[in-house]
Amino acid sequence: MAMIEFKNVEKYFGNFHALKDINLTFEKGEVVVVIGPSGSGKSTLLRTINGLETISSGNLLINDQDIRSKQTKLTEIRKNIGMVFQHFNLYPNKTVLENITLAPTKVLNRNEKEAKDAAERLLDRVGMLDKKDSYPSTLSGGQQQRVAIARGLAMQPEMLLFDEPTSALDPEMIGDVLDVMKQLAREGMSMIVVTHEMNFARDVADRVIFMADGQVLEDSYDVEGFFEQ
Ligand code: ADP
Ligand code: ADP
Repeated sequence: MAMIEFKNVEKYFGNFHALKDINLTFEKGEVVVVIGPSGSGKSTLLRTINGLETISSGNLLINDQDIRSKQTKLTEIRKNIGMVFQHFNLYPNKTVLENITLAPTKVLNRNEKEAKDAAERLLDRVGMLDKKDSYPSTLSGGQQQRVAIARGLAMQPEMLLFDEPTSALDPEMIGDVLDVMKQLAREGMSMIVVTHEMNFARDVADRVIFMADGQVLEDSYDVEGFFEQ
């Protein structure tokens, strides 16, 4: 069963046609990279998956549940499908550790000790354990993004969405963030990554989707072949 299925999905912002007849399925375990020019609808596509944007028509199924059905709970979807943003979106008034334990304690009702231990393990994985008591504003962009990835993982999601995770970073920070993402991919994490990092796409993706002008123009499992064109 596909984890995510777009069937004839359209998205309008007013009169602007941002997604045009999208038909795509995403399976568990896939690492998919979405590329295309700025304004082609890549971010909108990702944001529809966890309900940050509504769709205008068509069907979008997440684990067989229609995202527009009354029975579908967006909080359930967001527990299961984490998102990492371009601008990190960490809580500024919380420490690194608190940023990570907040959702597990509030949403999953984990006890503080459990959540803290899990958060420390995640911070260790992304190389940020020594900054656990720091506030986000004291960290570099690359460090904040690694914390944001740890926060996404703390909900133990089935899939992580990445919306241009390195586009706001200074060049010297990009490698550290991509290394964390590569490691996740190797561990079998299901990922959809919107990025302009073509080397990352070539090295890590199982599949590449090319969008332009709101449409999917290519959807290829031959990633090497795609980049040789
Ligand atoms: P990409 O991620 O490929 O750069 P986006 O999905 O962010 O593209 O945007 C696609 C188009 O939709 C752009 O022209 C953008 O300006 C427009 N758009 C995105 N969000 C909104 C919004 N909330 N209101 C109006 N237009 C929007
Ligand atoms: P992030 O960096 O966290 O991904 P962005 O800087 O891409 O966020 O901004 C995304 C927000 O701006 C979204 O809410 C998107 O819908 C909105 N947006 C993008 N383009 C437009 C537009 N042309 N008009 C109005 N809102 C837009």
